[in-house]
Amino acid sequence: MTLRRHDTGETVEDPRGLEGLSGTMAPGLVDLQLNGGFGHDFTTDPESIWAVAARLPEFGVTAFLPTVISAPPEVAVAALGVLAAGPPPHWRGARPLGLHVEGPMISPRRRGTHPPEALVEPSLEVADLVIRSGPPTMVTIAPELRGAEEIAKRFVEAGTVVSLGHTDATAAEAATAADWGATHATHLFNAMSGLDHRTPGVAATVLTDDRFTTGLIADGIHVDAAMLRLALRAKGPERIALVTDAMSAMGLTAGAHTIGSTSVVVDGVTVRNAEGNLAGSAATMDMVLRTMIDSTGCGLADAITMASTTPARIVGHTPPADNLVVLDDDLGVVATVVDGAILHRRDEP
Ligand code: ZN
Repeated sequence: MTLRRHDTGETVEDPRGLEGLSGTMAPGLVDLQLNGGFGHDFTTDPESIWAVAARLPEFGVTAFLPTVISAPPEVAVAALGVLAAGPPPHWRGARPLGLHVEGPMISPRRRGTHPPEALVEPSLEVADLVIRSGPPTMVTIAPELRGAEEIAKRFVEAGTVVSLGHTDATAAEAATAADWGATHATHLFNAMSGLDHRTPGVAATVLTDDRFTTGLIADGIHVDAAMLRLALRAKGPERIALVTDAMSAMGLTAGAHTIGSTSVVVDGVTVRNAEGNLAGSAATMDMVLRTMIDSTGCGLADAITMASTTPARIVGHTPPADNLVVLDDDLGVVATVVDGAILHRRDEP
């Protein structure tokens, strides 16, 4: 029965409170983009943030950024209110690091699954309303929209991380957004202009401009393994945050489920609708950690940097030293420790 450090492989002497655990010990995982899980959706039911957070340690997650997608501003305001009110009594779970407001000031041409009727032009009124209620930790906007500069600067001033996403901007427009103070990109490659060699888009700037960090859905389906390798070569582990972008189906057993009024089939990684089309991600953080290693050949230390320390740094969070995950040799989650307490421990067969 020994615990080893994930980076040096050294045995951990006298692990307080963790006697009896065996495996590789690493900082707890941090997901900067999670839309819900276990049948709950944060955008339609912001109150469910605490219930979902309570179960995230099952996947090695000790902190996360709950994300609401394009909706009337009242939704972000309500979610910020839920976070400000704090958890219910006796609650324990992964710590929410504020709110990620993804949209609604995004491009209709790159909206993905965001409802078209929810999208709006950049509006200082909307931005100020959301800022007054929070401010949010992160906001995703499309910089090519008219009025985006004012909005971006207002959020930067409020201390919000401005992220480019769901955007059809040119590479040059993306670089200009960095001049305004944008520092991050939302799910690199997905729902953004890309790498065409004559008309480079946002992805080209994000990959080559060190002012940007980026989220990356490393489930092997949203982004091909070759593009995961490209992202790692270009940005390095210090500028990549692995995210799940998972939705309400995350954490549900494989098979058919009804979410809201929609019938879906979950296969553990993806969610498909009745027609078999990709309807979202059910990936978990331990899964994207393994997929990133399998796809790029990077070492565990670099993968943990991308799944833990870099995402925490991006949102200005200093994780407590006793937020930990213990992994087995196949990088399955053995146990998760939040603030020194074991909140998840795998049943041994
Ligand atoms: Zn998105």
